[in-house]
Amino acid sequence: MLNALLDILLPRLCLLCASDAEDDGLCAGCAALLSEKKIGPPVCSVCGEPFPDSAGPDRECGACIGKAPPFISARSAYLYEGAVQDAVHRLKYAGEVGLARPLGRLLSRLPMPLIPHRVVPVPLHPKRIRERGFNQSLLLARALCKGLGLPLARAGLERTRDTEKQTGLGADERKKNVAGAFRVRKPGSFRGMRVLLIDDVYTTGATIRECARALRKDGAEVMALTLARARRL
Ligand SMILES: [Zn+2]
Ligand SMILES: [Zn+2]
Repeated sequence: MLNALLDILLPRLCLLCASDAEDDGLCAGCAALLSEKKIGPPVCSVCGEPFPDSAGPDRECGACIGKAPPFISARSAYLYEGAVQDAVHRLKYAGEVGLARPLGRLLSRLPMPLIPHRVVPVPLHPKRIRERGFNQSLLLARALCKGLGLPLARAGLERTRDTEKQTGLGADERKKNVAGAFRVRKPGSFRGMRVLLIDDVYTTGATIRECARALRKDGAEVMALTLARARRL
């Protein structure tokens, strides 16, 4: 009984490969595989896009100089490839919800320019939650909030339309697909607040931007963190 309880509290096996876990549910090998995909500087100081073939300090990318995004900063921990992509797939599509805790902890290690007043996960439509059984962004946000002692507004935003899956859509289609799909559940609840948006993957940024627009309309200043980011083609 006590051992069973301890196993729940202190998982001893790696959640990704079932060898002995060292830190927070991952073994040293899997932690190393994930860290190979870590996004390092320099990145765009606004949208977090990595500058793959250059050195030097963070600076604004051409896209952000051309048109300021609706958030003040967005950052992603890892490139969405290899072990990181596998881990996200296992969390999202295989329902391995135990992975949310170590992945959320990794996310919480990213530097934030300012301390947020509220942490808000990108919401799923109720129909999608019924299909999947959980919102992976909420699980990541919860782990991050626990680790950092930040307040979670779990249902701060809602998805008003059951949008098509973004997978396989181009940048313009993605933008159209999520246009106007989000709203603040209680208008005025984020007025004057700094809000940290959490999502699993940043692909073209269409979803994060649309959520940020809804929060900004409500009077919030928005920052965003995502676990992974797709490499721009
Ligand atoms: Zn492992
Ligand atoms: Zn940028």
